[in-house]
Amino acid sequence: MKEATKMKKIVVALGGNAIQANDNSATAQQKAVRKTMKVIAQMIENGDQVAITHGNGPQVGNLLLQQHKGASDANPAMPLDTISAMTQGSIGYWMQKALDDQFKHDNYPSQAVALVTQTIVDINDPAFNNPTKPIGPFYNFNEMQKQRIYHPDYIYKQDAGRGYRQVVASPKPLEIVNAPIIKNLLNNNFVPIAAGGGGIPVVVDHGHLDGVAGVIDKDFSAAKMAEDINADELVILTTVDNAYLNYNEANQTAIGKVKVDQLKQYLKDGHFAAGSMKPKIEAAIEFVEKTGNRAIITSLRNANKLNDEVGTIVYN
Ligand code: ADP
Ligand code: MG
Repeated sequence: MKEATKMKKIVVALGGNAIQANDNSATAQQKAVRKTMKVIAQMIENGDQVAITHGNGPQVGNLLLQQHKGASDANPAMPLDTISAMTQGSIGYWMQKALDDQFKHDNYPSQAVALVTQTIVDINDPAFNNPTKPIGPFYNFNEMQKQRIYHPDYIYKQDAGRGYRQVVASPKPLEIVNAPIIKNLLNNNFVPIAAGGGGIPVVVDHGHLDGVAGVIDKDFSAAKMAEDINADELVILTTVDNAYLNYNEANQTAIGKVKVDQLKQYLKDGHFAAGSMKPKIEAAIEFVEKTGNRAIITSLRNANKLNDEVGTIVYN
């Protein structure tokens, strides 16, 4: 059993709950990260090659607000691509430190490295005209209306019935620019933390890379990264143990092992909310169809039970 799973190359995508508690302080977020990295270290020490990727929705939105609040002519707010890089750095630093501490504690000979990662998108992606990606804090209706005073140009949408959030363009990832480095790090037994927040969206313009305003969904970039580094498995860890049919309704049903064609039908039938579960389902479908390998959507608390076939397992 152990041998069969050894040296499986896995991309693990971590959601908001892996980083953020209700408290946005660095102390609280690092505490959450340390808890998460204990789980991830276990996966690695059990023999899997793991490349980590993570979301940055709350952090990128919060930093954007902070940047604009403190901006002056002499000290202007950074644009969204640079803010994306800043959150890759801060979250990556927390994860890297937590993993290295855990490895040291367990006497495991590896190190983590957070990589500032760029992701190529299409400048003509229709997403630039239709913002869908929720970032930053949740607001109730009144709070949202008040925010409009300070940011009349921001667009807000309901996020899975949990309140309102600012939304930005979320172009589809075409290629993880730094995939060769990620592969190399894995081959040398290091643990890459890459394409955080979906990677910084860049377009190719006359042979060089240019940052663009948007936030790539980390579920899609995780699938792309898994594909680009030839991963054996894509594991998306979130708050819920499974994707569900009729979510939040009386007849809610957990999806277990599911063929990709069946899952496509469920997707068509509208079971998954945009901006939360839907991108995970679409990412899983894309990875499984492109590679023939499995994708798993489950909770962080299930991460060390993957051999028991927990969660929503998508196969071809
Ligand atoms: P992450 O930060 O991990 O990306 P999201 O909040 O974006 O997490 O997505 C996970 C959330 O998706 C769940 O907590 C749940 O509220 C929501 N969700 C929407 N539709 C479904 C569904 N059909 N099955 C399970 N969860 C769903
Ligand atoms: Mg999400």
